[in-house]
Amino acid sequence: MNTWKRKARAVKRFWSRVNIKGKNECWLWKPGPTSPDGYAQVWWEGKGEMVHRVSMAIYLGRPILSPTRKLDQGEIIRHRCDTPLCTNPNHLLLGTQADNIKDRDTKGRTCKGTHRPAAKLTEANVRSIRKIYKKRPKGTRMNKPWKYGMPSLARKFGVHISIIDSVLKQKTWKHVH
Ligand SMILES: [Zn+2]
Repeated sequence: MNTWKRKARAVKRFWSRVNIKGKNECWLWKPGPTSPDGYAQVWWEGKGEMVHRVSMAIYLGRPILSPTRKLDQGEIIRHRCDTPLCTNPNHLLLGTQADNIKDRDTKGRTCKGTHRPAAKLTEANVRSIRKIYKKRPKGTRMNKPWKYGMPSLARKFGVHISIIDSVLKQKTWKHVH
C-alpha cells in the first residue's frame, strides 16, 4: 500500500471514531478519554497524539510536525468550546501558548455562578451518579468505558464527562449527600 492510501485509511478510521454532528455542535471522540483530565490520545504518525490535534492536522492538510507536540513552531490547538473530547475543526483554534493562558484567565473570571455547566444536573441526579459509580467492581479505572464508568454516566445523564468527573471527585455538589 502506498503512503497516500495508508494516510487516507488512517483519516477514514479516525473519523469513524468521532461522533460527527452539525457544523456548530461538539463532535465527541467516541472511545472516551484516555487521561484523567478528560483528553484522549490516539496513535498517529507513529506516536500518541491528542485527538483534537489530529483533527486539526487533517483539517489543515498537514502533518503534525515537531516532537515537542506543537503543530508547528509556537502553535498549539485550543478548544473554543472547552470540551476536551471535541474534535470539530470549527471548535478548534490554532493559537499560541500565550493566547491559551490569556483565554483561560478570561474564562476563569466569567465561568462562575449560574452559568456553570454543573448546574444542568439536579440534586437527585447527583445522588444517582454517585450511587451508580459506587457499584463498580474494585480496581476499575474511573475513565474506562464500561457500565458504571464516567463515559456511560455522562451519556445517561446527558452531560459532559468532565461534569461527571467533578461530581465524583466532590469538586461540585459538595453539599449533596
Ligand atoms: Zn466542541
